[in-house]
Amino acid sequence: MRTADDLDDRTGLRLVVFDGDDTLWETERLYDEAREAAGRLVGAAGLDPVAWDALERSIDVANAERHGLSKARFPLSCVQAYEETARRAGVAVDQGLMESVRAAAAAVFTAAAVVYPGAEDTLRTLRAMRRLALLTQGDTEVQWHRIDASGLKPLFDNIRVVEKKNAEVLASLLDELGADPASSWFVGNSLASDVNPARRCGMRAVWIDAHVWEHERREARDHEDGIWEAGRLSDVPAVIAAAEDGVPT
Ligand SMILES: [Mg+2]
Repeated sequence: MRTADDLDDRTGLRLVVFDGDDTLWETERLYDEAREAAGRLVGAAGLDPVAWDALERSIDVANAERHGLSKARFPLSCVQAYEETARRAGVAVDQGLMESVRAAAAAVFTAAAVVYPGAEDTLRTLRAMRRLALLTQGDTEVQWHRIDASGLKPLFDNIRVVEKKNAEVLASLLDELGADPASSWFVGNSLASDVNPARRCGMRAVWIDAHVWEHERREARDHEDGIWEAGRLSDVPAVIAAAEDGVPT
């Protein structure tokens, strides 16, 4: 049974903030599967699916910069890549195929994201001594659907879905919850969206180097210290405990 003293010791409230996508549940694979399905449609029409795939990835990164992480982005990128592949091949764009490509891509939003093994145990272990928050970014409806489906909601003291994670968003979360940055942690799979913003706020970070898309590879780590790596989610409690005990990694 945790007590107020355990949670709010002399160093301030100890918070662990988790990312959702590809940290607690696997979503990148859903994008890969949707992309493959859309690519098969393009290939069946006699166009080069490999060229389409490469084009889709670069268009998607550009669209993320331009339009943010809205629900419309990924299907739009798949359609634009089809239009460009057809144009380069000198073939007219087929409206029916365009809609099929869009629908194949949009399946990513209704497909079930699989929660990583050990997610629940990991959160229960950490909850014994800390407050837990979930901070995810992306389309509000899609994110809440994944949060509800994960079954992990009751394990968090605070859940927030934002358009984009950055140091300002994180600082305001810490401030609102009265958490001390120096004794708080961020756990996530992205250097750009999780680890670097956390370090900029003075938090320590556990980086789980999971499969991520090109947009999340846009930054290298911007701090040399304060970052620990975990091979998998279930290693996180031990990594944090060892770091706080000063055990070298
Ligand atoms: Mg993530």
